[in-house]
Amino acid sequence: MRLGYIGLGNMGGALARRLLREHPLRVFDLRPEAVARLAEARAIPAQSAEALARESDLVMTCLPTSREVRELLFGEGRVADALESGAILADMTTGDPAETREMAARLLAKGVRMVDAPVSGGPHGANAGTIAIMVGAPEEVYARLRPIFATISPNVFHTGAVGTGHVMKLVNNVVGAGVRAVTFEALAMGIKNGLSLETLTEVLQKGSAKSAITELALPRLSKGDFAVSFTLALMLKDVRLATKLGSDSASPMPLAGLVRELYQTATNKQGAEKDVLELVRLFEEAAGVAIAR
Ligand code: NAD
Repeated sequence: MRLGYIGLGNMGGALARRLLREHPLRVFDLRPEAVARLAEARAIPAQSAEALARESDLVMTCLPTSREVRELLFGEGRVADALESGAILADMTTGDPAETREMAARLLAKGVRMVDAPVSGGPHGANAGTIAIMVGAPEEVYARLRPIFATISPNVFHTGAVGTGHVMKLVNNVVGAGVRAVTFEALAMGIKNGLSLETLTEVLQKGSAKSAITELALPRLSKGDFAVSFTLALMLKDVRLATKLGSDSASPMPLAGLVRELYQTATNKQGAEKDVLELVRLFEEAAGVAIAR
């Protein structure tokens, strides 16, 4: 299968690099510097998304939201026209399940299978080869994709029909967003009452409150490392999508609603393009205490 990758940002760039270890890969991004970085790793740069789609049997996308995916496929990107019957489009964006099902139906009319394959574990997990890939796809399409995704990470999961990969990812991220918020809130209380960030980090990593936040985010707070790996805008998008899904399916999500408003506030205050770690500023300000170095 000839492979192509569109969207080489923090996440897509890391996933494409993993694929490149075992497959020739055509790549495209609106930002030429992102394409150039992958070309240095021996990827084949495409002139446009349309050109890439014409020369690929499997096109993977990792764009900010489903809106960009739709624009790429049916708008200016013209990828839907360029894909040949029998091709597969695997969307690794954290997207909207309803939008994806609708796009998949449109593509199926011309013989193209679209599936959702979002990921969890961040660029760090991609680089380490441990990232989770959640695939919403018909059984036979999953069977073809599995060996390719396994070259990114062994943690590939078939979640069910098209759209369920996104649902799984939204469940994952709303949990992650909430745990991050409550961890930062509790850190502020702990520091104000005599604990150091080092003690909190060390003990939380060994106790029952252990999480990806205590393992990855807390050491970054100690170093004052606010480098952008996952933006506040993208996390806010995920919590919004999750609560919309809750609302659309009459599944009350009162806690997630509160979490969404916290991320909205942090996004307004700190800036949409800042790293999610900046959420800590909200709790520092509320308690009047410094948490991060
Ligand atoms: P990013 O902003 O770093 O990258 C997005 C890339 O898409 C950019 O390079 C941009 O130029 C490119 N792009 C946008 N529109 C395009 C188009 N029409 N054609 C070609 N390229 C286009 O974002 P990211 O952090 O890489 O996130 C991408 C997706 O992955 C999001 O849905 C996000 O929620 C999800 N995700 C991110 C992480 C993470 O830790 N960063 C983890 C899991 C999932």
